[in-house]
Amino acid sequence: MKPNHLTRRNFVRQATLTGASLIVGADRSVLARPFQNHQVAVLNPKDQVPISFIIDDSTTLVNMAYFGIPQFQEVFPDQYLQDWRKLPREIPDDFVREFRDYCQAHGVKGKYSIVPYPACTGWVDRFIPGWTKQELQESLQLVRETMQPDWDIHPEMVSHTRVIDVKTGRPFPDAHEKYMENWGWSQDKSADELGEYLAYALKVLKNAGLHCQGVTTPGGFGSQNKENLAKATLAAVREVYGEVDVTHYFRDLYTEPDESVVPLVKYPADLHSDHPSCVVSVIGCTGDWFGGWDGLTPGSVDQFITEDLSKGRMVEVINRGEPAIMVCHWPGIYYNGQKTGFKIFQEVVRRLEQKYGNLNWMKNSEIARYWAAKALTEITFDGQRMHLYAPFAADSFTLQVNVRPVNVLTLQSKGQSVKLEKVTSKQQLKSGCYYQQHEQAVICFDLPRGNTELLIG
Ligand SMILES: [Zn+2]
Repeated sequence: MKPNHLTRRNFVRQATLTGASLIVGADRSVLARPFQNHQVAVLNPKDQVPISFIIDDSTTLVNMAYFGIPQFQEVFPDQYLQDWRKLPREIPDDFVREFRDYCQAHGVKGKYSIVPYPACTGWVDRFIPGWTKQELQESLQLVRETMQPDWDIHPEMVSHTRVIDVKTGRPFPDAHEKYMENWGWSQDKSADELGEYLAYALKVLKNAGLHCQGVTTPGGFGSQNKENLAKATLAAVREVYGEVDVTHYFRDLYTEPDESVVPLVKYPADLHSDHPSCVVSVIGCTGDWFGGWDGLTPGSVDQFITEDLSKGRMVEVINRGEPAIMVCHWPGIYYNGQKTGFKIFQEVVRRLEQKYGNLNWMKNSEIARYWAAKALTEITFDGQRMHLYAPFAADSFTLQVNVRPVNVLTLQSKGQSVKLEKVTSKQQLKSGCYYQQHEQAVICFDLPRGNTELLIG
């Protein structure tokens, strides 16, 4: 949430390109080793392309741009000169309903931030000055009951503006970039210190009756401290919400044509125990080309997908078969009542629906879980019997197997034996089915945690 929101993220990208250390060096040692077997490949779920929508800077009622800009301007007086007083102080729940209804009609899923202490106005689990207790309760209820089924709820740290002293619950006194969540504070903190801060944010959302499996970083939070951020996320989510096995976070987005946006599965642990865990970095593939973080910067549909459907960042990523995750900011979707970002989004979806028949809208947590299962399921295959040990369950787990034409395919797990149904085309593939294509079978089933046998006859 700032004009250089993207610049910050891009800064890290540049650093990785030039230094080749932040991601490649530091990350590689902590990444899950990808599964490899020359006879078996794990495909995308249902052999479709996952797609998702990340919404930053949303919360209950408060327009983060209106309340955030003056706080950013205090820290950087030459910047953030937007006339914030002209912006609406509220993004109304009627707009949340309108947006939700559109998304339900089109199957759209993704991530929706709830900033716990939005721009230091008030606490979503207590009260927010300017709105009645009932308005806040109704706003939370709307998110809890009708957004949460299709959207991961993330805190975007505590305030998205000033850093809070978790010992006192008060913002640090200095309006300085070192005490802003977007900038300095997080960069030199230990995993424990960051974890304590993340847990503080998560607890507020838990008090408000929301369930989280991940977090979103505000602006540049953790951009130079990524491994501690990953470890902190894993620890904090599990501390506050108990045994979440696959945790995840959104911190980075990459927009250059040849940059991969495959999720990174990190810090797998205790995979053969009853309490396996890992953390997944979910990566966006677009900038906010909708309406900007401030609701004053119109974007363009063509950057996502051109009118002739041939080009654009979404086309690049989808054609490569990687999860295509768009990124926006809620004030830019609402666009001060003009809904400019929302209109751009609807046109992007219309064009994507026109071009592709193989898109699979997923929540960030579903993508994280699938990639964890993809990376960490152990598979052995002797040509007839396949054994899988999965530390993490995943729906619509999809395998491509080099095998002669299959007559019967049986799945055995936890004492149950199920025959999979043969379908004749990729389009018909769903969980519990397979189809044969030349010397390969593509098999889709809900992968349970633990041991599974596939008998191929
Ligand atoms: Zn943000």
